[in-house]
Amino acid sequence: MAKSSEVLRLDKVSKIYGMGEEKVVALDKVDVLICRNEYTSIMGPSGSGKTTLLDVLSTMSRPTLGNVFIEGVNTTKMTNSQLASFRGNTIGFVFQTFHLLPRLTALENVMTPMWINGVPRIEREARAKSLLEKVGLKERMGHKPGELSGGQKQRVAIARALAMNPPLIVADEPTGNLDTKSGEIVMDIIRKLHKDEKRTIVLVTHDKNIGKQAQKHIYIKDGKVESDRKVCSIM
Ligand code: ADP
Ligand code: MG
Repeated sequence: MAKSSEVLRLDKVSKIYGMGEEKVVALDKVDVLICRNEYTSIMGPSGSGKTTLLDVLSTMSRPTLGNVFIEGVNTTKMTNSQLASFRGNTIGFVFQTFHLLPRLTALENVMTPMWINGVPRIEREARAKSLLEKVGLKERMGHKPGELSGGQKQRVAIARALAMNPPLIVADEPTGNLDTKSGEIVMDIIRKLHKDEKRTIVLVTHDKNIGKQAQKHIYIKDGKVESDRKVCSIM
């Protein structure tokens, strides 16, 4: 059967923080469509709603209004535990501040999502090792985050994001805390995840030079997005 290549769809999504006078409309009736194997950047000034948009489209945060469909499933209807399990197998996360567990080694950090998802020990160790090797950290597997540079930490975080082999990778300012050279290495890995591994990538950045490496761009301003298309092609 023909299958739509739609991966992600936001349908009139609003996110409103606070109430009354304090109310902040961080997303204002946003429509977004992301198709399989696209590399999309979300760009906009500081405070425009980029992180909120990424959090909502990756189901980390629920919309106040509207619906979020992933692989055709309306995630807004799921319970928290259904959502956590769905997310764990569908989306890999990369954050500006890495979010590694400080007491665990690089290898243990990469193994953690597989441990949560019940992957047998031998398999998770072998897979974590091969992922760390892939991001060029073969010699650093036994080190804890405190013993790694920023760029190395982010590469551990990318390996961890790949642990459950998710089709979709979301990254929020992944080079925001890195020097130029480390940032380039990280962006190179992300580019390969798209080009060689055919993953769908959504990247948030306020940096035009980083954003232009994506194929498609979503510009957000004051929580508003201009939407271009209505359907993905049929595969
Ligand atoms: P960006 O990532 O583009 O800098 P954010 O998505 O972080 O923007 O924020 C968008 C708007 O929502 C800003 O006005 C911000 O202050 C507000 N905001 C973000 N998170 C919260 C929150 N948890 N509570 C209240 N307001 C928030
Ligand atoms: Mg942000």
